[in-house]
Amino acid sequence: MRTTARAVVIGGGIAGCSAIYHLTREGWTDVMLLERDELTSGTTWHSAAQVTNFGGNQTMVGLKTHSINLYNELANDPEYPINYHHGDGGLRLASEEWHMEGYRHFQSMAKGMGVEFELLDAAEAARRHPLITTDGLLGALWDPMDGDIDPAQLCQALARRARLAGAEINRHTSVTALKQLPDDTWVVTTDKGEIHAEHIINAGGYRCNEIGAMMGVTHPVVSMEHQYFLTEPMQGVIDAGHRMPLLRCPTDDFYSRQEKQGLLVGFYEQDCKTWGLDGIDPNFTMALSPDDPDRVLPVLENVFKRMPALMETGIHTIVNGPITYTPDGLPLVGRIPGKRNAWCITGLRAGLGEGGGHGWLLAQEIVHGQAVYDTWCIDPRRFSKRADIPYTTAKVVEDYQNEFRFHRPHEFRPAGRDLRPSPLHATHAQMGAEFGVVNGWERPLYFNKDPNFKADHSYHFSNIDPLVEAEVMHLHNHVGIAEVNGFNRIEIAGTGAMNWLDRLICGRVPTKDGKVGLGYFLTPKGDVLGEATMARLSDDKIWWGSAAAAEDHDLDWLRAQNPPQGVTLQSKAESHTILLLVGPKSRQLLAQACPERSWERADFPWLSVTECQIKGINATVMSVSFSGELAYEIHVGLDQSVALYEALSMVGQDFNLRPFGMMAVESMRIEKGYRHWKADLITEFDPLESALDRFVDLRKVDSIGVQALIAKKGAKRREFVTIKIKSDFAPAHAGDSVMDGDRVIGTVTSAAYGHRVGENLAMAFVDPEYAQIGGDLTVWVQGEMLSGTVVSPCRFDPENHNMRG
Ligand SMILES: Cc1cc2nc3c(=O)[nH]c(=O)nc-3n(C[C@H](O)[C@H](O)[C@H](O)COP(=O)(O)OP(=O)(O)OC[C@H]3O[C@@H](n4cnc5c(N)ncnc54)[C@H](O)[C@@H]3O)c2cc1C
Repeated sequence: MRTTARAVVIGGGIAGCSAIYHLTREGWTDVMLLERDELTSGTTWHSAAQVTNFGGNQTMVGLKTHSINLYNELANDPEYPINYHHGDGGLRLASEEWHMEGYRHFQSMAKGMGVEFELLDAAEAARRHPLITTDGLLGALWDPMDGDIDPAQLCQALARRARLAGAEINRHTSVTALKQLPDDTWVVTTDKGEIHAEHIINAGGYRCNEIGAMMGVTHPVVSMEHQYFLTEPMQGVIDAGHRMPLLRCPTDDFYSRQEKQGLLVGFYEQDCKTWGLDGIDPNFTMALSPDDPDRVLPVLENVFKRMPALMETGIHTIVNGPITYTPDGLPLVGRIPGKRNAWCITGLRAGLGEGGGHGWLLAQEIVHGQAVYDTWCIDPRRFSKRADIPYTTAKVVEDYQNEFRFHRPHEFRPAGRDLRPSPLHATHAQMGAEFGVVNGWERPLYFNKDPNFKADHSYHFSNIDPLVEAEVMHLHNHVGIAEVNGFNRIEIAGTGAMNWLDRLICGRVPTKDGKVGLGYFLTPKGDVLGEATMARLSDDKIWWGSAAAAEDHDLDWLRAQNPPQGVTLQSKAESHTILLLVGPKSRQLLAQACPERSWERADFPWLSVTECQIKGINATVMSVSFSGELAYEIHVGLDQSVALYEALSMVGQDFNLRPFGMMAVESMRIEKGYRHWKADLITEFDPLESALDRFVDLRKVDSIGVQALIAKKGAKRREFVTIKIKSDFAPAHAGDSVMDGDRVIGTVTSAAYGHRVGENLAMAFVDPEYAQIGGDLTVWVQGEMLSGTVVSPCRFDPENHNMRG
């Protein structure tokens, strides 16, 4: 066994085998995989191993397409062919109208990744799968690429290719300890000796938290027991003359594929069971849990209704094994939060279908610092440290119970909802707030007073829209108050802080105390990594503000940029919150609440910051606006937030102050052309493609990514535009394709109805030749090709009169 390696992968299931193969493919050959038993001895060996193309967003569809292409290539490798039933096709059934709505959206979204889903009626679905009945069936989504693969052969083939490229694969080698050295490299201790590695990768499957514990990390990953049955041969399968397509349904909670001349049927039962929470027997390897058919009986009823022939068919094998989940059902692939040179590819619940793609994106991140797609949806840093095992368990159980029930627009499910409650939660609830969650923080989405109101989470305009419109118009004409809790705020302080920050941002850090500016930071390749509001409180103290979801991401990234000695980074996300005052009367309200200083435009203009006291409460006030109206962000200690809210509300009685939620802000920011991190600001595009030219100073050649940007010489992959959709049929949704005839020419990133301007708006990246203002195009929304026009990005008050007051 070698004693040094550039990267050590721990675990030899599909995750580890894909990771090591792709590391070699991306150019790192001095790499090693350590497996405590045989390859695939964890979950992989007994997987149902279905490989599907369906994903909830474009990154997931793209990485699954990579899996499919790779598996096809391996299957056709004459030197080492493997069994892969590629192209049996798959049906996602629809028995409720919202299933079809979702499928129409996913069809449009997948088209942008070159994947052609087809929508079928019930009769055609039954023609393609002769064993199903059409009772209560509305239709189905057809995924032509679906199939299944031999998981052991797949891993052996990946390992073989990695070995041929120079990787070393050590079976029966258990990692027992991990220690990080001061230079950020690692000592990996095994039962066969030590290895000195630059990078480590946790691919430990259901044992990922045993490996995590060796480096002081708890991954938000919990395993569930998961069962499938294999049936005896079935005449219907034999007679069909073709392989049965895969089958799943959002509300019937089962899946199925062909296995030999019978079927494999798997279950997601409501009465589900976690696995391994109290520790895992070290001898549990190549092992299964005891059969537990009673648990899945209720689901079996759904199966029999859809495929009556199964009632007459015997079961010859039951497989019950551990399957890993995370709080949102997507895996953890990327940097381990708070660690350097440490990565993970864990929490895979569909590892055979997705594993090829996850290993590919992870290897690109490790080797090149960035992957071809934006990987935020699988980034381990998307959960805060608050996502502990009890929280993860609650969400995992919920996710398992809803395996095929995709989230609908503005739908937030009930489990784990009190992770990060705000002291103002009860106040907001009493006012009729409907809450959503951002990074564990509960935030009002909108308010309604009707106790019988039931939100319609439609992909069309819904009964939520009039409530949002009323809030927007109130903010436009009067004044409103909201809390933006969890906003990511990092105090950067100390001598040299400004110079250090200046090197990180591709634009300018505010040069005057009391000023606020917006900055963008880039990947080394010059693409957009993030956005920060920089509020300069003094010449050696600045507040870095960014999206609540960016909490771990930004802190990790700032720390990785090695702040000079004496410069400190302190997160205030947990200790502070923001009260927002928005609307033309916000200045008068603030002046009445805090008469000790002048809030007049001349004394406290737009983009100013000051520390002050309001009604005796310490606050930091910024005159910044995401809505396009005059607005103030009042940053206050969490412990003082209720007192300040009450004080402002009392003063607000004179001004018709009303609460508002985040959906009003979403509509208003789109009218202003303002971007959202990880919706409109993604690592797939640089700031010039993202139409952020005014925040880029190409003379700053020492700032991260600027040289790379210059080297591109203005070449653009796509351009960011605003589209006015000439129809009120439905709003667009992130991921919908922008079309010219049959050709995809762009992708929607955000969309909402602009209530102040009365326009159905979408933001999108489109091919450069379609970015001209006034140009016509179509947006594929809910199965309809809706005409649209590229319009100037700021739809509301382009001169910013309102914001300046
Ligand atoms: C019943 C069932 C059906 C499924 N069906 C499908 C399906 O149809 N399609 C699909 O895509 N997915 C399916 N899955 C999920 C899929 O099988 C998993 O997502 C995938 O196998 C996980 O692979 P992994 O590499 O992450 O974990 P594992 O396969 O568990 O691999 C982890 C490896 O790490 C090793 N290891 C752990 N600790 C150490 C250590 N300290 N030192 C060295 N090595 C260590 C283990 O021995 C193990 O081999 C199914 C799962 C189950 C349970």
